[in-house]
Amino acid sequence: MDAIDLHDVTKTYRGGVHALRGVALRVGAGEIFGLLGPNGAGKSTLVKIMMTVVRPTTATGTILGQPVGSHDVLERVGYLPEHHRFPAYLTGRQVIDFFGALCKVPRDVRRTRTEQLLELVGMRDWGDRRVTTYSKGMQQRIGIAAALVNDPQLVVLDEPTDGVDPVGRRDIRDVLVRLRGEGRSVMVNSHLLSEVEMVADRVAIMNKGQVIAQGTIDELTHASHRYEIEASGGPERLDLPGGPVAAEPPAPGAAPGARTYCVRTREARDVQPAIDALRAAGATIVRVTPARETLEDLFVRSVVDERGRALPGAAR
Ligand code: ADP
Repeated sequence: MDAIDLHDVTKTYRGGVHALRGVALRVGAGEIFGLLGPNGAGKSTLVKIMMTVVRPTTATGTILGQPVGSHDVLERVGYLPEHHRFPAYLTGRQVIDFFGALCKVPRDVRRTRTEQLLELVGMRDWGDRRVTTYSKGMQQRIGIAAALVNDPQLVVLDEPTDGVDPVGRRDIRDVLVRLRGEGRSVMVNSHLLSEVEMVADRVAIMNKGQVIAQGTIDELTHASHRYEIEASGGPERLDLPGGPVAAEPPAPGAAPGARTYCVRTREARDVQPAIDALRAAGATIVRVTPARETLEDLFVRSVVDERGRALPGAAR
């Protein structure tokens, strides 16, 4: 059973803003899913519909097997909203306990779980300090722990690494991977595309209220798969059975005098004729690297408007 399986989700806000125009989205059980898109694409609206905070204009499909809009399913969902604020007089430990109480987790279960969660997010030594003394990264860690207090099957995290330093970001990535290892599904919304790329099994890119791309990063970047051969002393052009391959302008960091030849394939065997031709021409092969478009390349390419300019916020 999919964790999220939504179809035909539309939302027109009062005043006539078409925030969602027929969204279909699938998140498999036990996967980390990245929901991406420039500001105003409709991501928050979609998440709020899933959390029953916003009423959709139309929506069909299920969350953890229950019809979207059902409140009961939220018992099994954890949610970290963007820009969350905790009551200033609470300690980190109390925040987790408080959210547990809101979710009706029994007191004794809450007590053990709070300790486990403080450990999971690396905050055990800080649990008795007030949240106002925390750095942004520590607040995010406590927010993630609070989102997990009801032992959810689906966790929805909005910008979990916002304002977090590189070490903290890696810790948070490790937490996401651990949650997946426990069989939970994780939906993460982030502008840090290189981070999403490191952990997400599948992604959806939204723009102007629609999903414009959805799948594994490998599937979505399929056409860009290539091998780059760096060689010194090679010709400007290789004539191969599959067609000519021209040397590219030197890449940053390339060895002096080396040229790069790009063979568009994902199969290593298709690269061998190019290597043979280079060696026959007396060239020295320096490096052969499989490459593909990054998630950031894919994102920027997907959200470029008709005039060929990236939309505001696209490359943040
Ligand atoms: P994202 O989360 O991708 O930045 P949002 O879902 O917040 O996108 O917004 C999508 C569109 O809906 C934007 O044009 C936004 O201005 C509009 N919008 C969001 N919330 C409301 C609201 N409560 N009332 C009217 N329009 C809204």
